[in-house]
Amino acid sequence: MSMKVAIVGAGGRMGRALVRAVDEASGAELSGAYEREGSAHIGQDAGTLAGLQSLGIEITGDIGRALEDTDVIIDFTAPSASVAFARLAADRGIAHIIGTTGCTTEDDAAIAQAARKTRIVKSGNMSLGVNLLASLVEQAARALGPDAFDIEVLEMHHKHKVDAPSGTALLLGEAAAHGRGIDLRDNAVMSREGHTGARQEGTIGFATLRGGSVVGDHSVILAGAGERITISHHAEDRAIFARGAVKAALWVHQHEAHGLYSMRDVLGLQ
Ligand code: NAP
Repeated sequence: MSMKVAIVGAGGRMGRALVRAVDEASGAELSGAYEREGSAHIGQDAGTLAGLQSLGIEITGDIGRALEDTDVIIDFTAPSASVAFARLAADRGIAHIIGTTGCTTEDDAAIAQAARKTRIVKSGNMSLGVNLLASLVEQAARALGPDAFDIEVLEMHHKHKVDAPSGTALLLGEAAAHGRGIDLRDNAVMSREGHTGARQEGTIGFATLRGGSVVGDHSVILAGAGERITISHHAEDRAIFARGAVKAALWVHQHEAHGLYSMRDVLGLQ
């Protein structure tokens, strides 16, 4: 039997890409589509809005209706909304895929709490390429110590993005920190301005660019004396994140143990 998927934030940039990805996936079907009260998209057909033929699923502002007969929620919305959806998923025993970025430590703790009662996959980047990149970064950071190589993460996104650094930049920073056996929170330099002094050994630096329609560019630079390694990923189409999210939904649907999982679990890259 097909896995039934409800998409919340179905009218957003990622929401529409998700509707298309569910439609093209075998073994998955759209069962509900939600937008918050007052959205101009309520009452529209989710398929038509996503540029497909009508799918017979109307976007509703009633979350109860959107989640009727649903196995998995896919959610690329906003931090406060994702926390609320995680609690709802836990109460109803529905699996939850979270692509939302910009969550605070408190948001993440609330999501981890909800994951004790259901299955949640959360990742700042759902693409195969970036998760492979994270594995490579971890390996490189482990091999090239802080005394010889400095690590900097550079990212660029479209001008509408509201959080910085991107969830993917943080995911890559976490991978580098993990490779070095350090805590990112204690070693990250999120931005620089003015007379900053010399770079402190062992820190992981971030730089953020915003503009135009860039879907997502990320580079991790390992800079040593006399040589530099750059590992990069360029996202050209939101479909890569949407397909990854559907893959996570199909994986978690087969997975019975409650808990909080990452895309690296889904892709077997741990
Ligand atoms: P977007 O176009 O602004 O879409 C966001 C959607 O969520 C909209 O439909 C919005 O509705 C809805 N929403 C926002 N706040 C809400 C709330 N409190 N309750 C219910 N719905 C709410 O943004 P996007 O570009 O699709 O990105 C969405 C999120 O996904 C961002 O956090 C982004 O960084 C992340 N993202 C993650 C990945 C990944 O691979 N993990 C990839 C790309 C993007 P309104 O129009 O009413 O505000």
